[in-house]
Amino acid sequence: QATIYWVRRDFRLTDNAALTAAAARGAVVPVFVCDGLVESLGAAPKFRLELALKAFAADLEAVGSRLILRRGKALDVLRDVAQDSGATSVFWNRLYDPASVERDTEIKAGLLSDGLVAESFAGALLFEPWTVQTKTGGPYRVYSPFWRAVRGNEVSSPKPRCRVLHAPTRWPSTDALERWGLSVEMGRGAKVVGQHVRAGEVAAQARLSTFCDSLVVDYKAARDHLDVEATSELSDALSLGEISPAQVWHAGQKCLHDGANGAEHFLKELVWREFAWHLMWHYPEIDTKNWRQEWDGFEWIEDANHPHYVAWCRGQTGQPLVDAAMRELYVTGKMHNRARMITASYLTKHLGIHWRLGLRWFESCLVDWDPASNAMGWQWVAGSGPDAAPFFRIFNPETQAKNFDPKGRYREKWLPDQMFETSETALQFYDAIPVSWDANLTMSDVTPIQGLADGRARALAAYERLKSQ
Ligand code: FAD
Repeated sequence: QATIYWVRRDFRLTDNAALTAAAARGAVVPVFVCDGLVESLGAAPKFRLELALKAFAADLEAVGSRLILRRGKALDVLRDVAQDSGATSVFWNRLYDPASVERDTEIKAGLLSDGLVAESFAGALLFEPWTVQTKTGGPYRVYSPFWRAVRGNEVSSPKPRCRVLHAPTRWPSTDALERWGLSVEMGRGAKVVGQHVRAGEVAAQARLSTFCDSLVVDYKAARDHLDVEATSELSDALSLGEISPAQVWHAGQKCLHDGANGAEHFLKELVWREFAWHLMWHYPEIDTKNWRQEWDGFEWIEDANHPHYVAWCRGQTGQPLVDAAMRELYVTGKMHNRARMITASYLTKHLGIHWRLGLRWFESCLVDWDPASNAMGWQWVAGSGPDAAPFFRIFNPETQAKNFDPKGRYREKWLPDQMFETSETALQFYDAIPVSWDANLTMSDVTPIQGLADGRARALAAYERLKSQ
């Protein structure tokens, strides 16, 4: 008998509960459905998804299988594929964002009513959101007690790699991936960002090994420095499930056991991802609404055509560290964590623009886009979220540059230079941006759109008004 393995954001052969369970029953039909949720992804996540699909299709071929691609409403597609292949069961790994939960609930009921077996498995998180509870039985709102509650919990050992997958007697037909046009919205940026992405399970494993072999030791001290490569860079692989959090957790635990200095801190960061999903599960509107309702009265500017917002998106604020970071984002599809905090603080505080607009820009540009971490990150910086940084903690980009990019290497990497030769990476920005942006190659004529002292004073005055409401 054949089982459909419905692939979603779990592009891996190792530690894949749904795939392992499907393989244990006999033939497997791996299917990816391009449905409304996929169509609604931002440009960069969609592009990154295409790379993940290509890599996973090749991995499946190598174990005697293939990836069936279909477009349409997921329930209809799964029914069709079951009919075409003779499959009697559908297995998948669970997702936790509200839109996926709603879709999956409906699909499970639909498949069961057809007489098919429909079963979901855990694998995208270390701890499913409802399994971690405070002493009074509620969700956590603050990270530190969440960390204390989970750090000693058992995380199951990763399941072995599926080395052979049996083919069904009839393979259903498949779409051609190129016909889906998942990279179209990236325009010419696709070629540039593509040079910085290492997609697929094998690349993710290699990155984890490099991190554990050499970078973890200095992780705690070096992770905040913008000018060094000190972090795991696994976020896009984790977001697409090219590696499981359990694999990363166990590798981190081994480093800890071997006495690597930064290992505990690394595990803590991985648990920030868990905390983000815990929050999103319990507060599904965290990506659209202020988590603290009193922030609804804050005087945010929420106009996507506002010239300050446009300048921020395009790396043209005249604030070198902010512009460097926004260009890093546009060229690589990623941004250093500290730079995310600095650019988010600058947007929401110095420029007074709503975090929702920043969140949306990140959502369209990040190859590691993760709805929960993105929402938590924005609300944390803006001050409106759970366990948020206090609003008056306003990052000063100049002080941040002194502390975390003291030699200016990060800025040199991403900004054109008037004195010396502009770096290769800084030039890539001009190859990636839409022609209509009309960005200048030199930064010399970009005067800051907002003075730092003025922006800070205005932000604090607005905060005082909020408090007195
Ligand atoms: P490492 O430092 O090597 O950490 C290992 C893993 O832990 C990461 O891959 C990630 O999965 C997790 N992690 C680390 N820091 C955080 C954090 N602060 N919050 C949640 N998880 C974390 N991360 C995303 O994956 N997707 C997003 O869309 C995203 N948006 C963000 C938006 C803002 C405004 C902010 C401030 C942060 C955001 N982050 C997001 C978190 C963080 O910036 C990235 O996870 C990190 O930069 C990824 O680099 P890395 O893989 O080298 O991380």
